[in-house]
Amino acid sequence: MIVVMEPGASEEQIKHMTDRVHQLGLKAHVIRGTERTVIAAVGDERTTKPADLETGPGVAEVLPILAPYKVASRELKPEPTQIQVLNFKAGAGAIGVIAGPCSVESEEQIIACARAVKAAGGTALRGGAFKPRTSPYSFQGMKEDGLKLLAAAREETGLAVVTEVMGTESVDLVAKYSDVLQIGARNMQNYRLLEAVGNTDRAILLKRGASATMEEFLLAAEYILNEGNQNVMLCERGIRTFENHTRFTLPLASVTYLHRKTHLPVIIDPSHGTGHAYMVPDMCVAAVAAGADGLIIEMHPNPEKAMSDGYQSLDFKQFDDTMRRCARVAAAVDKHLC
Ligand code: PEP
Ligand code: MN
Repeated sequence: MIVVMEPGASEEQIKHMTDRVHQLGLKAHVIRGTERTVIAAVGDERTTKPADLETGPGVAEVLPILAPYKVASRELKPEPTQIQVLNFKAGAGAIGVIAGPCSVESEEQIIACARAVKAAGGTALRGGAFKPRTSPYSFQGMKEDGLKLLAAAREETGLAVVTEVMGTESVDLVAKYSDVLQIGARNMQNYRLLEAVGNTDRAILLKRGASATMEEFLLAAEYILNEGNQNVMLCERGIRTFENHTRFTLPLASVTYLHRKTHLPVIIDPSHGTGHAYMVPDMCVAAVAAGADGLIIEMHPNPEKAMSDGYQSLDFKQFDDTMRRCARVAAAVDKHLC
């Protein structure tokens, strides 16, 4: 249920109502909008009725949330959420650019990428230190050594660090070195992991599972939000279909659909979404035109030599050219890259 407070409701009244929600055995999430504050009362609502809350002080009305996901829904928060981490911003007019290699491979490689990302106007550096590889014989990532290199790259450039956390046992370790925790497509429905990252103070980039429906995707985000972490970004990275001319099928309509259903920012990953470097620039431009709130792009000093996903990685020149094109399209839709 949504407890909509009167426009001038006092802090005392808001506190009174959150306490009341807790007494009813529900969780309370306070969302402060530009016009008014609302309190999401979520949990098992079978024993609670709107009448239990609507007579409270400062309450304008109590409404049901019809969507199965509650805190993620637009019904609860009509204004778009903007996530900010260092200079990186995504949502509400800001298009956050995250770029870097698939995997951290060496100090020279990650520092060179970080400088190239910054020079082209990006604000966040990606790079996997713990890699979810299809084959156990493929490069599994540099683990903590890779995390240290990412932190060193942030130190030099000021870019926010985005990196994947694969299991609950490494959440604290990955959070120690990074700014945004990536939940990979293969883990989108790892509910204990979602809860664990929901209890950190790091922003989360939640990737869509390759065969997850939009409802499953949003319910996965809800697991994180329900633990109290409100800094969640959704990442469309392509789904598995019968089609095989691309590695996955990248549905840009997800942006429009998700903007209708949720206030959370939507990031597009054209690298995994297509699996071909030559397709990535056009899909970046198309994602910006379609209203995406951010991009996550794989790039590498020498894609041919990359230890993972080189075939879908841009080189520095291609990345820089893509950023210039995206900036022009962003301006045309009254947004800006950052
Ligand atoms: C990645 O970002 O390198 C990655 C493994 O992505 P996904 O989980 O979308 O496959
Ligand atoms: Mn990759």
